[in-house]
Amino acid sequence: MLMQVDFPLYHQPVFRPPAEADSLIVQVTHGCSRNTCRFCGMYKGVKYETLDREYIEYWLDRLPRVIFGGARRVFLADGNAMCVGFPWLREILTLLNKKFRGLRRVTIYATPADILNYQAEELAELKSLKLWMAYIGLETGCNELLKKTGKQGSAEDFGQALAMLRQAGIRSSVTAILGLGGKEFTNRHSEDTADAVNKGRPDYFSLLTLIRGGNEEFIASIKQLTVREVFLELRRIVERIETRTIFRTNHASNILQLEGTLPDDRLRILFEIDTILRSSEEFLDREPGFFGESGY
Ligand code: SF4
Repeated sequence: MLMQVDFPLYHQPVFRPPAEADSLIVQVTHGCSRNTCRFCGMYKGVKYETLDREYIEYWLDRLPRVIFGGARRVFLADGNAMCVGFPWLREILTLLNKKFRGLRRVTIYATPADILNYQAEELAELKSLKLWMAYIGLETGCNELLKKTGKQGSAEDFGQALAMLRQAGIRSSVTAILGLGGKEFTNRHSEDTADAVNKGRPDYFSLLTLIRGGNEEFIASIKQLTVREVFLELRRIVERIETRTIFRTNHASNILQLEGTLPDDRLRILFEIDTILRSSEEFLDREPGFFGESGY
């Protein structure tokens, strides 16, 4: 049905979190306003722009009737769409509420620095307009590794940003990347990431795995982990998480799809990790991503 529209449906590329498979994706920006992260090939070569309101309204008006008035879940793309600022985001949420009478929840990609640019009362107003959850890339809780990767901000910014969201009643879904620091950082990466998650207390916490995809220069600059080392890193993170969070490894970059609530399901999840750690040496000594590379 979507293919019947007579204009380009999306500015490519389009990315969305796995959990937003059933949501209507509405692009409010194109690319990533930061685009400094050396491990991320998502928007390399894409010129950043904020799409204007008239275009978005025109786009929404031309959606087939089955979507118009029927969308309950909307995901705002691209990269860190929350960078658009309060007045603009309020305008877009107001528009979505007007267009989709059954709208229940709107979700968005955000960086901690973007969130810290909002006032507490602004976040509360966005929540009242159904901003339900922000997807945030922590990547690692290790500040030295963050710097090395070119990701802006710190573990402390992350903690403050999550506290602001929580105060406003907006949920958080956080990701970090297994193997991000290679062999040099693996211990600190796992320990500091678990510590940052414990302090930040996200509602959802997911792990991706570093694989090739527009980030070859960064991968060449680290001593990449083997599959075995990735699982050992994963194991250390799972062992250390004490905050209550829904945990998943459901991204296409992961070899093993895990799901549960931490810390309640810790023993089962560790058992599943230990089971795969008994696989063949040939499998465990390989580089992650050998089964297919999608980037982030
Ligand atoms: S990781 Fe996020 S903030 Fe960094 S370049 Fe990629 S999309 Fe932008």
